[in-house]
Amino acid sequence: MRDQFGRTIDYLRISVTDKCNLRCTYCMPVEGLDWIPRDEFLTYEEITSVVRQMADVGLRRIRLTGGEPLVRRDLPDLVHLLAGVPGIEDIALSTNAILLPQFGRELRDAGVRRLNVSLDTLRRERFRDMARRPERFFDATLEGIAEAERLGFAPLKINTVLMRGLNDDEVESFAEITKMRPWHVRFIELMPTGDNLHLSDRFLSTDSVLERLRRIGDLRPAQGPMGNGPATYFRFDGAPGSVGVITPLSHNYCDRCNRMRLTAEGKLRTCLFGTHEVDLKGPLRSGGDVMQAVRRALREKPEKHLLQIGSAKGSGGLRALSQVGG
Ligand code: SAM
Ligand code: SF4
Repeated sequence: MRDQFGRTIDYLRISVTDKCNLRCTYCMPVEGLDWIPRDEFLTYEEITSVVRQMADVGLRRIRLTGGEPLVRRDLPDLVHLLAGVPGIEDIALSTNAILLPQFGRELRDAGVRRLNVSLDTLRRERFRDMARRPERFFDATLEGIAEAERLGFAPLKINTVLMRGLNDDEVESFAEITKMRPWHVRFIELMPTGDNLHLSDRFLSTDSVLERLRRIGDLRPAQGPMGNGPATYFRFDGAPGSVGVITPLSHNYCDRCNRMRLTAEGKLRTCLFGTHEVDLKGPLRSGGDVMQAVRRALREKPEKHLLQIGSAKGSGGLRALSQVGG
């Protein structure tokens, strides 16, 4: 699959739900969002049908996301179905890790190999402010990460959204972990959406972060762990893990974009941001031509996002990334 700018698209991020058991400040309002009614969700069979048709024309990699994908019932069943689609080489999962002790083994057995885990703080008391859930959820997150390591998920990527004055004093602590453990910690720049504009002055460019990290060790550019992402990686001398930066605002990487997104209710989005989306549920349920809709979406894939710090305009009316699968 190619878009109008010649980019090869072989990666689909699938949101299986917009709901979540956390309320990360930058992602979701504390009262939640107007949830998508459950009967609006694509079924696992419908998701698999989309993937099968896309795999016939070059889709190779999948990531399950949300919301929190593990709050959707029987997620391993979906993994099982997707793992059976010819052509699919890689199934990964983005999660906050809380439910991994419950589902980790089943997911691995079903075919998930790689995990991205969100972790914005290493401080128990701070978790309450950042994820707006009691501290026992922090303990559960760490237990989930430990379980992921025990089960042998590799590489293990940790996603940390940086916010000035909230967690940027932990940059060095996160980076130090990579010297001891095979964690790939990726610092993500805060992306503006309709519901997080109150955090606009918390934005922090990852350039300043790298500058700080160079003071605690010899940080060299490095090959990233296996994946499809936009992160740029570095490694301390002799470290088992790495440090990555994801820079949607300070250094645009849209020219390398290889992805599309399928929302929980069956909209295909060719860019995380903006208003471009094509409905697949209609053709799926009426026996219509799904791939015709996919081709139309690809033709309309924008060249780049138009995000601006402090404005919701570039996000195209999106309230939160959890609505479309971050
Ligand atoms: N619940 C899962 C998790 O937290 O990993 C998957 C969904 S979450 C929306 C996916 C990723 O998007 C997380 O790493 C999260 O930190 C990131 N994210 C959400 N909103 C963001 C924002 N406004 N700016 C930057 N990253 C954001
Ligand atoms: Fe939930 Fe992930 Fe959003 Fe946090 S970032 S509220 S864990 S969907």
